[in-house]
Amino acid sequence: MRIFENLESEVRGYIRSFPTIFKKAKGAILTDEQGVEYIDFFAGAGTLNYGHNNEHISKALIEYLQEDGIVHGLDMATSAKKEFLQTFESLILKPRNLEYKLQFTGPTGTNAVETALKLARLVKGRSNVVAFTNGYHGLSQGSLAVTGNNEYRDESYISRTNATFMPFDGYFGDMNTLTYFRKFLEDGSSGVDLPAAVILETIQGEGGINVASKEWLQELEAICREFDILLIIDDIQVGNGRSGEFFSFEFAGINPDMVTLSKSIGGGLPMALLLFKPHLDQWKPGEHTGTFRGNNLAFVASKVSLDHYWQNDNISKAVFYKEKILREALEKIATKYKDDYEIEIRGRGLAYGFEIKNDKSMASDISAYAFQEQLIIETCGSESQVVKFLPPLLIDEELLIEGLKRFENAVDRLII
Ligand code: PMP
Repeated sequence: MRIFENLESEVRGYIRSFPTIFKKAKGAILTDEQGVEYIDFFAGAGTLNYGHNNEHISKALIEYLQEDGIVHGLDMATSAKKEFLQTFESLILKPRNLEYKLQFTGPTGTNAVETALKLARLVKGRSNVVAFTNGYHGLSQGSLAVTGNNEYRDESYISRTNATFMPFDGYFGDMNTLTYFRKFLEDGSSGVDLPAAVILETIQGEGGINVASKEWLQELEAICREFDILLIIDDIQVGNGRSGEFFSFEFAGINPDMVTLSKSIGGGLPMALLLFKPHLDQWKPGEHTGTFRGNNLAFVASKVSLDHYWQNDNISKAVFYKEKILREALEKIATKYKDDYEIEIRGRGLAYGFEIKNDKSMASDISAYAFQEQLIIETCGSESQVVKFLPPLLIDEELLIEGLKRFENAVDRLII
């Protein structure tokens, strides 16, 4: 379908799912060129936790530019960087007793993942990294090698170098999938090289909103400690408050060696960073540098969003409150159709999945019908079989309820 009429070039991307040209956005509403308003349950795949054009972020950016604030400073120390770091330390790291060094990587999440993999291999002097089925960590060569879904890789003939996959929590139903991992490690001649690190999301965002349990994460951490393996949590999609707490692993009380952050940490502007335990700082000078490693506008946006929403974790209560509304609405729909459809609802915070297990093709149709109901919602999972709910964390309660009604209408229209 051609969206941009009169243009020679056709652009690839989400326009295939949402056939209109969007012009404006505020909060959880996207408006297209015809003035049609859509409720946004996609939020830039978790980039817009604070909503589109957040008033505090926009105001801070305008003021910063009016005062000739530095936009590009390569990797130099700037006031905007200093203020972001002070805020991140005092509001996020200190209250959680977390001690990390912080490294800005290239602007996208993929860059933070590449940095984590490189540093882990460098520190441990081993090449293998363990990743998990259905995990997603990016599409450049190193991150792609630890991404589960073959579809992203097969046609481009990129092999899965230096990566071993293990089954994620829940992959075999109730069976403890870590039994395999431990066995492979204990049996050193099994064919699985001792890894430098394991990398995982606590809630697999692209892979279908698969949620790791607290016990599973704790056991994984214990295995990593026992076998001297670094634990990397990729919190690019579900960090920054999406799970209800700032970091998605807090609920499990684990202490990862490295954490990747991107998407919402920049308040909607490109920014990615790696947190790592101070003793892992074994970089030689200039060993991992680049041009866009510290976007000053993103520092400004990030600082102001942390100031407004993370004083005493004030946003958390609202996320858990809205989670209840979301979960109950989805369960009501699942119950309505339980005689004919096996529907599974799973998630944490405001990251939820709705999977019709006995008809995998329905999720994409629901997303298309939802668009007609003026609701923007995407699918995820290796077969796009899961409808994925990622509304802005700040969405008004009424708008959340209205969006859920539109979702139910879309399901009704498809099924009836
Ligand atoms: N890790 C996770 C968990 C992600 O969800 C994504 C993006 N969907 C990435 C890494 C890659 O981030 P980016 O697209 O910004 O490179």
